[in-house]
Amino acid sequence: MSTDPNLSDPFDADLVIVGASFAGAACAIAAAQRGLRVIVLERKRDPGEKLHTTGIIVKEAAEQTLLNRVPAAMTRRIEQVRLYAPSLQQVALAAPGYYFLTTDTPAVMRWLAAQLRENGVDLRLGCAFTDADRVDGGWQVAGVGRTRYLVGADGARSRVAQRCGLGSVRQFLYGVEYEFPGARLAQPDALHCFISKRYAPGYIGWIAQSPTGIQAGLALRHDPTNARVPDIDAFLLRVGQAGGLPRRLHPGHTRAGLIPCSGPVADMARGGAVLVGDAAGIVSPVTAGGIHSAWDHGWAVGRAVAARLRDGGPPPEAMAVDAAPRFRTKRALRWAYDRLQFDWPFDLLLYSPPLRWAAGQVYFHKRRA
Ligand SMILES: Cc1cc2nc3c(=O)[nH]c(=O)nc-3n(C[C@H](O)[C@H](O)[C@H](O)COP(=O)(O)OP(=O)(O)OC[C@H]3O[C@@H](n4cnc5c(N)ncnc54)[C@H](O)[C@@H]3O)c2cc1C
Repeated sequence: MSTDPNLSDPFDADLVIVGASFAGAACAIAAAQRGLRVIVLERKRDPGEKLHTTGIIVKEAAEQTLLNRVPAAMTRRIEQVRLYAPSLQQVALAAPGYYFLTTDTPAVMRWLAAQLRENGVDLRLGCAFTDADRVDGGWQVAGVGRTRYLVGADGARSRVAQRCGLGSVRQFLYGVEYEFPGARLAQPDALHCFISKRYAPGYIGWIAQSPTGIQAGLALRHDPTNARVPDIDAFLLRVGQAGGLPRRLHPGHTRAGLIPCSGPVADMARGGAVLVGDAAGIVSPVTAGGIHSAWDHGWAVGRAVAARLRDGGPPPEAMAVDAAPRFRTKRALRWAYDRLQFDWPFDLLLYSPPLRWAAGQVYFHKRRA
């Protein structure tokens, strides 16, 4: 953004963002709405393909962000959680006024791409970021040109982090999910969550009704030295009937991916390059929910870049760190769960007030009745 109209601007963009998912879209729209020239690079040709998220949106994100404009036909409201102990005994949990939205996630991702274009963002689909070099006052991005700021919204294994010498996520969960298009659960109005050290050490399994079918998955703690693939078939054989899954279902697409679980990375921003969302490790280490935090973080960084370039505001690098949730308590819980997970306390205490209270804290952010 040149302040003198007589000077030609040596920069092709104010902001290049890598990744058109939640963090990248939020960052791009926030900056474009404040007048910046924004380019978004997305390596997928179709933003709705090859997903690696269940796409469940929490109430706060559904009401307090631009995601409140996602067309209603793309979402399904779920107000209850059914928590299953390893023995498959279950308890129903809810909190007055609280809900989640399951989504037709491919449609939501395409809708986000349309929002980018409506807001004047130059969205380049099928365009992968490969490399960038530091130049005076910005970055030279291979195949794109010069930009004042470069944002990596490119997920848990960020190439921007790698090429720009920023911090990388070190600890992950690994999640796998089947889609069953057109299928219907016996109890579609609950999010069914399964605790099992055998199938999901370090996390949980889940079954949910989306607007287009059933999604069923599980995630476990990823150990790079002894990588284990979640055994989703055995898991569904074990829990399918209890969770109300119809018999003889055949999965359509599979969604899979790494989920950061160790909190924000050190060195997430430096010298005009900033990481947001999963690339910056901004995912709850306990719930593994990252859509809301990715959105908020991306939005804060987009606004900070605009404030810097338009009004000489504080450096966006510092703002990126300030806007990142620290997840201190959740990191402590993650540490404990990694080391002290046993099945028997859940089997024994599922109906006890302390366990119901703790589950309410996790699922409803302290609002459980
Ligand atoms: C199986 C699974 C289920 C999950 N379910 C939920 C859930 O229900 N609710 C929830 O809140 N969170 C969930 N999460 C976490 C959540 O999906 C992420 O936290 C969230 O998607 C992060 O958004 P992001 O924009 O930071 O990154 P991502 O969604 O990972 O997006 C990164 C984007 O960058 C693009 N990209 C990557 N590299 C390049 C490159 N070199 N050039 C160009 N583009 C590139 C990718 O194609 C992608 O579009 C789940 C995660 C997994 C793995």
